[in-house]
Amino acid sequence: KAAQSIESNFLFYSEEMNQRAKEHLRIESELRQALQQHELQLYYQPKVSLRSGRIVGAEALLRWRHPVRGMVSPGVFIPVAEETGLIHNLGAWVLEEACRQISAWRDANLITPPVAINLSARQFDSELPKRIALVLDKHQVQPDQINLEITESLLVRGTDKVIAIMNELVAMGMALALDDFGTGYSSLAYLKKFPISTLKIDRSFVIGLPYEENDCAIARAIVTMAQQLRQEIVAEGVETPEQMSFLRELGCDQLQGYLFSQPVPAAEFAAMLREGKRLAFATH
Ligand code: C2E
Ligand code: MG
Ligand code: MG
Ligand code: MG
Repeated sequence: KAAQSIESNFLFYSEEMNQRAKEHLRIESELRQALQQHELQLYYQPKVSLRSGRIVGAEALLRWRHPVRGMVSPGVFIPVAEETGLIHNLGAWVLEEACRQISAWRDANLITPPVAINLSARQFDSELPKRIALVLDKHQVQPDQINLEITESLLVRGTDKVIAIMNELVAMGMALALDDFGTGYSSLAYLKKFPISTLKIDRSFVIGLPYEENDCAIARAIVTMAQQLRQEIVAEGVETPEQMSFLRELGCDQLQGYLFSQPVPAAEFAAMLREGKRLAFATH
């Protein structure tokens, strides 16, 4: 009986793996088309200062409008793109599009805060600084108009080569933020080794604030440590006023989340800036 169930498990898993492989192949080929057929779009989610309540940044988030399936989440297609190498094309598109948008806003006399771009670990090769420099130059965008969000997986891989590339990017004038902080495998010691100026507390630790003791303890520890290391701290996925108050009392610098705004198309983000939309309940 045991042997039989192992066998049927095996069949079950291999069928599932087969399905997944097919799904990956489909997504990959459709993603290639998406790049050519303008199905991709960048949305922008504001980052607001917990002190002034003002919009002080934005994160560019990739959206795929599939002609049949509708909006496909980056949580679905980014991992496939990373696996297949298509992330290089996607990443190039994102950088180009963000810079085009920043320069369009400037042409419209809109003063915009820095825009953060997500980078996958795989994009982090020695040619990256040069590629970014070319795009910045093409659109006449200043490097401090761009921030780069990286994840802990890159730090864990943290060779001297990675550190050298980061230093090069920082020397060019771009700030680096560590995304999803606390979810990866990097130790606190890593943080000293890398030229990172901002930590983003992952949404999974924000969800339970201020009621879950463990989340409170983790958030407090991250903010305290970031302050010691003189790093800016951004809380991701803030949805409630209670979470906001708790984070503000901790001394967190910025908030990003549905409480203030979901990610929105460029025109809507521009409208928020023009209106001077601010976080309610700001202290001053
Ligand atoms: P991320 O960089 O951690 O981005 C934050 C995610 O949290 C976004 O999901 C955002 O929509 C979501 N979020 C923000 N505030 C809230 C909130 O209050 N509640 C909830 N429930 N969610 C909130 P999104 O846009 O689905 O992106 C998922 C992930 O896909 C991103 O996580 C990032 O890792 C990746 N991604 C998105 N765009 C790009 C890109 O251009 N390049 C790369 N390499 N990765 C990207
Ligand atoms: Mg991010
Ligand atoms: Mg994040
Ligand atoms: Mg996250």
